Amino acid sequence: MNQTADVIIIGGGIVGASIAWHLTQSGCTNVLVLERETSQGKGSTGKSMGGVRAQFSTPVNIQMSLYSIDFYRQYDERMDYPSGYRPQGYLFVATAEKHMNYLRANYERQVAMGLKTVRLVSMSEIVEMVPQMRADDILGGTFCSTDGFVDPYSVMSGYTLRAVDRGVRLLRNTEVTGILRDAQGIAGVRTADGEIASRVVVNAAGAWAAAIARMAGVDLPVEPLRRMLVPTEPFSELSQRLPMVIDMSTGFHFRPEGLGILMAWNDPEETPGFKTSFDHAFVEKILTRAVDRVPCLENVEVNPKRAWAGLYEMTPDHHPVLGQAPDVPGFFLANGFSGHGVMHSPATGRILADLILHGKTDLVDAGVLSLDRYRTGNLIEETAVL
Ligand SMILES: Cc1cc2nc3c(=O)[nH]c(=O)nc-3n(C[C@H](O)[C@H](O)[C@H](O)COP(=O)(O)OP(=O)(O)OC[C@H]3O[C@@H](n4cnc5c(N)ncnc54)[C@H](O)[C@@H]3O)c2cc1C
Repeated sequence: MNQTADVIIIGGGIVGASIAWHLTQSGCTNVLVLERETSQGKGSTGKSMGGVRAQFSTPVNIQMSLYSIDFYRQYDERMDYPSGYRPQGYLFVATAEKHMNYLRANYERQVAMGLKTVRLVSMSEIVEMVPQMRADDILGGTFCSTDGFVDPYSVMSGYTLRAVDRGVRLLRNTEVTGILRDAQGIAGVRTADGEIASRVVVNAAGAWAAAIARMAGVDLPVEPLRRMLVPTEPFSELSQRLPMVIDMSTGFHFRPEGLGILMAWNDPEETPGFKTSFDHAFVEKILTRAVDRVPCLENVEVNPKRAWAGLYEMTPDHHPVLGQAPDVPGFFLANGFSGHGVMHSPATGRILADLILHGKTDLVDAGVLSLDRYRTGNLIEETAVL
């Protein structure tokens, strides 16, 4: 083997890049990031909606968001690079009592965990924030002012540039085709260009993570699921200052993007698989939901050629799998973000760096996110998935 590294990271998306940077923060710089594409961001990172929020239902997700959003607040100054963080908020809108009860319970949990910027909002406050919304059936909602959006590609680039400044090596066009093991555990990786030795290998391969895990003999329950986004042409009837707005009656959500808006809706009929082509029939499906809640969207123009599809990396309980694989010393997992990998990339980087270098972290109870939970049955269901 010609090359060696203290840590090899498979996957140069936002998660791999954050782990690399966080490792350098703790003094570990002999790190190699392997990316099979000729440029970074061609996985889910470059397809993301860029939403960041702390409005989750489980303590561990809220904790990860508290670290991450604070990190994004300071990102530009710390990294000397733009994150594009815009704290315009997330507004959850409920039209059913069961959704309102759900939001109230989440709100109480979020406040108990230390989130200071979330509040319950009445129907009239919602109308004040988004006057264009049909409000006859709205009961209320929640709004968190530090939630918002980032530019995922820029965040990934900033982590990478600063990690490389400190000595991290990024090899593009380098596909990992095998993982080497010996009696001690992980021994390195195999690529088309040869073998590279390392006692620590991190799986940060996004929607492709299960295949990487299999190379190490690990069964990882991460499945790809297509998500489609539809940007509109410039549209002056909605303010560019709007938050991410979520209509809980249908799951339709949207946020300002450029001079128009970016619309999302998770089609319940979507089935798992590596499908990345945009289905033109989706435009009508999403516009039906959009116009129902925001009638002026009837006037919006959509060019389906500008719409796109990407992959969520789903786990059965919609939480990531973080930490060392139970039976393979040196094989670390940072996978299965279930649509939250951009917003949780800062916390993930910190947690993985802590676990790799010190075997523990004080950011979250890492045991809760271990792969072992699928064997023991201690699942932690997140229901606030968009
Ligand atoms: C439409 C859409 C909207 C989304 N919206 C949001 C949102 O609003 N907020 C949010 O937080 N998240 C959102 N997500 C999810 C988010 O984009 C992902 O969770 C996140 O990008 C995962 O980052 P990653 O680095 O783990 O994966 P990726 O960005 O997919 O990176 C993995 C990398 O691994 C590489 N790779 C794979 N196999 C190999 C191999 N064998 N050898 C070498 N390299 C390999 C791939 O080429 C890829 O570059 C969205 C996703 C989609 C698709």
